[in-house]
Amino acid sequence: MRRDNRNNRDHRLLIVWLAVSVILSVLTVWARTEERRRENLWETSIPDAGFAVPTLGMSSPEGSEGDSGAVEKICCLTFDDGPSRNTQDILQILRDKKVHATFFVTAQPANEPYLPLLADIEAQGHQIAMHSASHNYSKIYRSTTDFWLDIKELRQQISPYVSVEKIHWLRFPGGSTNTISHRYGGRSIMQELKQDAEEKDYRWIDWNVCGEDATAGHPNAARILKNIQEDAKDQPLCVVLLHDTKATGQTVKALPDIIDWFAAQGYRFCTVEEMAE
Ligand SMILES: [Zn+2]
Repeated sequence: MRRDNRNNRDHRLLIVWLAVSVILSVLTVWARTEERRRENLWETSIPDAGFAVPTLGMSSPEGSEGDSGAVEKICCLTFDDGPSRNTQDILQILRDKKVHATFFVTAQPANEPYLPLLADIEAQGHQIAMHSASHNYSKIYRSTTDFWLDIKELRQQISPYVSVEKIHWLRFPGGSTNTISHRYGGRSIMQELKQDAEEKDYRWIDWNVCGEDATAGHPNAARILKNIQEDAKDQPLCVVLLHDTKATGQTVKALPDIIDWFAAQGYRFCTVEEMAE
């Protein structure tokens, strides 16, 4: 009788232990998935502050009024993380459509063979701007010093191909209000970097329309166009985030339709620098 009781108790303990183990593993897997999902969001969502250009005092651009008094609609296409094997195709489309865009460039190992294309980008009248040499969040956001060393490295790497002294614009990897940087450089790092940027005579810009073309789901061209149409709705000034990497072939496929759609809505295209002027 006593032995039966003990057996029963052991049995119950085993079941409780198993249940706790299962719950713990489920929670761990959920936490990891959630973390990955958030990292994705950090990179691709629209920054909280829209696309403020503080150095210009434009916290919420409204679109400018042309001679006719009508609000002029402006579209700045921006390509991050290039150059890549897709750059030439992007340039060809922009040339065919007579559109100028802005390229926020990086100098990661994958970019290196394509860095000479920066000369073509500049020669075609597009704007080249800073993004990051390594694009490695844990490295660039460790401290403000690390961030500016990375930008210095980028300037050095691209200097054989473009006139770096003319580059005064940058885009913070992950956007100016990203929170992944807090993990490495503390909660105030983005604020400090924005102050530094002003002192260093850099203007920075985020985006308010996102193609979500570099997400893990690898959306097709039709989905990228749809993402853009949904974000751009009713906005007189659109700064469109797209990517120029080896993985974003669908962006190239979508680009002619993206340009045609904005043109049909009455938008005029220009670079970020031209827009700010
Ligand atoms: Zn990027």
